[in-house]
Amino acid sequence: MSTRTTQQWQAADAAHFLHPFTDFQSLAKRGSRVIERASDIYLWDTDGKKILDAMSGLWCVNVGYGQRALIDAATRQLETLPFYNAFFQTATPPAIELAELLAEVTPPQFQHVFFSGSGSEGNDTVVRMVRRYWDILGQPERQVIVSRHNAYHGSTMAGASLGGMAGMHAQGGLPIPGIVHIDQPYWFENGADLSRDEFGLACARQLEAKILELGADKVAAFIGEPIQGAGGVIVPPATYWPEIQRICDQYGVLLVSDEVITGFGRTGRWFGCETMGTKPDLLTFAKGVTSGYIPLGGVMVGERVARVLIERGGEFNHGYTYSGHPVACAVALANIRLVREQNLVERVRTDVGPYLAEAYAQLAEHPLVGEAQTCGLMGALLLVKDKSGPRGGAPFPGELELGMVCRGHCFREGLIMRAVGDRMIIAPPLIITRAQIDEMLVLIRRCLDLTLADVRKNGWDH
Ligand SMILES: *Cc1c(COP(=O)(O)O)cnc(C)c1O
Repeated sequence: MSTRTTQQWQAADAAHFLHPFTDFQSLAKRGSRVIERASDIYLWDTDGKKILDAMSGLWCVNVGYGQRALIDAATRQLETLPFYNAFFQTATPPAIELAELLAEVTPPQFQHVFFSGSGSEGNDTVVRMVRRYWDILGQPERQVIVSRHNAYHGSTMAGASLGGMAGMHAQGGLPIPGIVHIDQPYWFENGADLSRDEFGLACARQLEAKILELGADKVAAFIGEPIQGAGGVIVPPATYWPEIQRICDQYGVLLVSDEVITGFGRTGRWFGCETMGTKPDLLTFAKGVTSGYIPLGGVMVGERVARVLIERGGEFNHGYTYSGHPVACAVALANIRLVREQNLVERVRTDVGPYLAEAYAQLAEHPLVGEAQTCGLMGALLLVKDKSGPRGGAPFPGELELGMVCRGHCFREGLIMRAVGDRMIIAPPLIITRAQIDEMLVLIRRCLDLTLADVRKNGWDH
């Protein structure tokens, strides 16, 4: 069905297309894998190879590929009104209806939404909005936003600054002023000799220490992903988020939940903050809001902030051409309605989520796996060298890039699983069935075995 051969695609790709987060030269030498079509939870590349997509595209295709309702919604809206803006005291029916529906499915403190085109832009809006909020309240000094090392909040100047990726900060003079980072709640790496729960508390209390160091009158907000996604699917200890909430409440600091991945059912509740038991003031969303069929993002604005912006703020000098794009909003409406009709959130919580958790508990027995974590339909397997080490294993040397070795096996075996260092992570579509989880587990186990064989053959375990 392809109009060109794989080699022709790869040559044209290498000649003209600069890919995100990519070493351009080495990819040009190796050649991209060109994905041509998809259905349900499967992809096909231009060689006709079928691949099980355990990453939902990039954490977004929650309802799976080929959903007629989303395709029809986009087509209808393109025919009726492909674009109109929301700048000039105007609006469109899909944007209004989506705002209304989002107010319904998000926690009750959220009655208003500000639309963006992506998660990164949503977090740019967060920075503008929290600083504006304190300005209006007569506390313009309250500017600093606290985030975490190894957080991911997008790739614009503000998004990458909020994020805590050292590699991103090293390029382009980041972070921008007024953004500081505390440690991530990653027990395996940073837990020293604390129990999981002790470590969760200690880690959260770094926020308190940071607030006291800077002065509470300087700290505008704390931002975090309920579960770090791009950082490696790091599920924090159960003690972490309640303590963060307590600290934000005590010092009046706004709490921002970046739910670009954890939103719309991924963790088995509509939003990750519900799974973690927090009550955020702002909530960033993107990805799963449209299941990735078309770009859309935004920020849910809690009443505490919304009332100030609306009643006392005057004009908010911020917005995007595509804020409330009617086609994107129409697709989001169809997507959220489908999630509801198919009870996907409850399915994740009571059926496929626990089923995956059980399977991962068994995978934890594999000689290469030091830690196996899941939450809803997110999962991580940490590859370790010596399972008898503290906390279930000693890490392999970083320069070995064993995660990449494992990922190579996955590609060849027809499975998309991502490597973050030596954490092998998945976030399959929420429509995945138990039978498909079994199928995925066979592939994962096979790839772990192949990786273990490499380790033994090359003596990397010594
Ligand atoms: C993907 C992601 C973003 C950025 O979203 P884009 O649409 O790529 O700009 C922000 N936050 C989190 C938690 C993400 O996973």
